[in-house]
Amino acid sequence: MNIRTRFAPSPTGYLHVGGARTALYSWLYARHNKGKFILRIEDTDLKRATPEAITSIINGMSWLGIDWDEGPYYQTKRMDRYNSVINNMLKSGTAYKCYCSKNRLDVMRKKQIEQHKKPRYDGYCRDNHKKHSMDEPYVVRFRNPKKGLVVFNDQIRGRIIFSNEELDDLIISRTDGSPTYNFCVVVDDWDMNITHVIRGEDHINNTPRQINILKALGANVPTYAHVSMILGHNGVKLSKRHGAMNVMQYRKEGYLPETLLNYLVRLGWSHGNQEIFSVSEMINLFSLDAISKSSSVFNIKKLQWLNQHYINALPIEYVVLQLQWHIAQNNIDTRIGPNLVELVTLLGNRCKTLVDIASSSRYFYEEFHEFDIKAAKKYLNLTACRPLHIVRNKLAIISDEKWDVEHINYAIQDTCNELSIEISKVGMPLRVAVTGTSQSPTLAYTIKAIGRNRSIDRINKAIDFITKEVK
Ligand code: GLU
Repeated sequence: MNIRTRFAPSPTGYLHVGGARTALYSWLYARHNKGKFILRIEDTDLKRATPEAITSIINGMSWLGIDWDEGPYYQTKRMDRYNSVINNMLKSGTAYKCYCSKNRLDVMRKKQIEQHKKPRYDGYCRDNHKKHSMDEPYVVRFRNPKKGLVVFNDQIRGRIIFSNEELDDLIISRTDGSPTYNFCVVVDDWDMNITHVIRGEDHINNTPRQINILKALGANVPTYAHVSMILGHNGVKLSKRHGAMNVMQYRKEGYLPETLLNYLVRLGWSHGNQEIFSVSEMINLFSLDAISKSSSVFNIKKLQWLNQHYINALPIEYVVLQLQWHIAQNNIDTRIGPNLVELVTLLGNRCKTLVDIASSSRYFYEEFHEFDIKAAKKYLNLTACRPLHIVRNKLAIISDEKWDVEHINYAIQDTCNELSIEISKVGMPLRVAVTGTSQSPTLAYTIKAIGRNRSIDRINKAIDFITKEVK
């Protein structure tokens, strides 16, 4: 069988992690089976669908590398097709026109509620052949079987059974002639030869209705897999605060696409205890039966942990490419200072995100105007003056050719020896002097990357600062 899956978002908001995970699972299933993955935009709700949401979905998927083989198809461009299927159904009798007024339906519903019955259409027009004038408004209803069961074998949740008695004669076309949501999905899945529908569990109740319509059309019924919800760490539906952000917001916050993909695949799917998956591994190993039935909890700490892993594990040139965007966003001019490969080598294992790297990189490229207050108070005091003077002089005489970690370390060590003081008494004031803070990568590497002249200037500034403070 040629596997064909689809991602069918309603573009009413940006692409969030829940949608991205559904897209990923459908995509992985298609790729694992060498099938096709289709993108379909379900934009029939004209009041709620927006072009911004469509852009967000397309950008988010492209950034993640979830590519589609067909589409994007737009439901709004398929209206003629839906209407022609409705006409055929009317002709074949699998659908009928319903002229019931709103008032009649309201009274009917009220009665059903009073009698503690589930409110549903009573079938008044189902077999009523009364003549109606051309201009009398009507909806088209699907003639749902009255008896029997709808059974489907959900690939995640097992057998699911609905009784036809529970199902309504669904409206498939409104009085204004527009087709309804469940109907469009059915026609699309049919026309697009979808073999596997992987979607959120909030669609389980739609499935028996869709299966009945598919059967009435003589279409193949796809296999269904309904994925559970993602919860915030507080156990309630994922909110923005707990991670339900626009996928592109994760980019802005300095996550790599590999991180988010790896995070999302594990959010509900597993392969033993393995946590790290490259995309090709995901494709090789993915299966629907390893998706969990229970809901998953979003954990930002794990996302950060994965990001740090990928920052250090992926080819450095690639990380640099991703970092460049953040450097530009931060308006940092990197023409003078360490190259970005050196920067990532220095900061990669200290930073959880590319934003952290970009924002911690300033002192390599720009002068800072103030020392961190706490750091200065602790380390830039009178006792630091002499070590700073001496180490400055030793650094100043290192020639260009010898400006390396070994010689810088030697200058620091030599200062300690000369003054008979421990290394931190030189190292910490020196670190605050050259970086403005008390946190930095290994000192000699940092100084090497900052450069000799810049380092000397900054040590002089620190000495001035101490002198002024003392006065
Ligand atoms: N458009 C629906 C949604 O965004 C998905 C429909 C489906 O996958 O069948 O929730």
